[in-house]
Amino acid sequence: MATLKGATLISVEANAAIISDLSETVLFKDVPQSTLSQFLARCDQAYFEKGEVLLNPDQNNDQMYLLLTGSVVVRLHSLENEALVSLGPGECVGEMSLFDGSNPSAFVVADEGTSTLVIDGELLWDMINESHEIARNLLYMLSKRIRTGNAAVKDSHELHKKAQQAADNDALTGVHNRRWLESLLLRLKGRSIEELAPLSVIMFDVDHFKKFNDSYGHQVGDDVLKMVADATQKSLRPNDMVARYGGEEFVILLPKTSLASCKKVAERLRINVASCQVLVGDNHSTGVTISLGVSQWQQGETLESLIGNADEALYRAKETGRDRVCE
Ligand code: GH3
Ligand code: MG
Ligand code: MG
Repeated sequence: MATLKGATLISVEANAAIISDLSETVLFKDVPQSTLSQFLARCDQAYFEKGEVLLNPDQNNDQMYLLLTGSVVVRLHSLENEALVSLGPGECVGEMSLFDGSNPSAFVVADEGTSTLVIDGELLWDMINESHEIARNLLYMLSKRIRTGNAAVKDSHELHKKAQQAADNDALTGVHNRRWLESLLLRLKGRSIEELAPLSVIMFDVDHFKKFNDSYGHQVGDDVLKMVADATQKSLRPNDMVARYGGEEFVILLPKTSLASCKKVAERLRINVASCQVLVGDNHSTGVTISLGVSQWQQGETLESLIGNADEALYRAKETGRDRVCE
């Protein structure tokens, strides 16, 4: 007979009512009543008060529980964590640790007064050996559990990806943010920069951007930034990387691009932005221009210094009249 800590044990009377209820469960589906009553004679019944723990990842488990009434919740890592799922009558817990001999993967706690049928490890293996139906039902239950587990992994992977994306991208324009650029600068040192050579950089800034904010409001200023970021992304190739560097200043890294090609990309970008219009009021729109500085990485140079050179070139573009590319 199984022994249980904490729970009240009641021996199962294999009566007709309980057999008929159990025939409806996934575990005992299609199991002949005579087989079922033989197995039930070897089971215990255990009652758990609300809050009592059936399975604990820190403790070895040698019993499987089939819920008869009440409900249990599954909590990962700690009893204080939010419940992952709630299970009710007819569902089983604990079978995985019987199969692989490992501790349970989560806490399972009674969510209310819960009565269970207790099946110990030896009995479970006898059931599998003697009943094809139970073996098949267990396979079905396990594959369902694997699918649920896979779906949870997929969800958490997608959540992680979204969080990463939110941390690395600018919320307004959707392009990478300064944080992303700085972590790239940390990663790209020495040989890893050389592998991108020839590497060029464009730094650009919206001309008279303050005017948009002052004349039409901050919202129009934001629309200008979105339009410029959009036009930028459309003007670049898949391997080029763009980040919003500051207010209305953007940096583009162009791997495997000589200064001559970089100038062509910058000029194309300048023209693309200049050909766009931003709505600034009812039926009224206006154009936007940008000034761009370009620079090519030299052997031994840091990325910070490369960006600094592009910034100086941008300054020259502003000084000499804006709406132009300078090197
Ligand atoms: P220049 O042609 O010399 O670049 O002049 P400018 O007016 O574009 O440059 P300035 O640096 O004087 O103005 C930049 C303005 O950008 C000031 C700041 O309030 C505004 N700004 C910065 N971030 C944002 C933002 O996220 N949204 C909006 N709407 N404005 C921003
Ligand atoms: Mg500006
Ligand atoms: Mg600026």
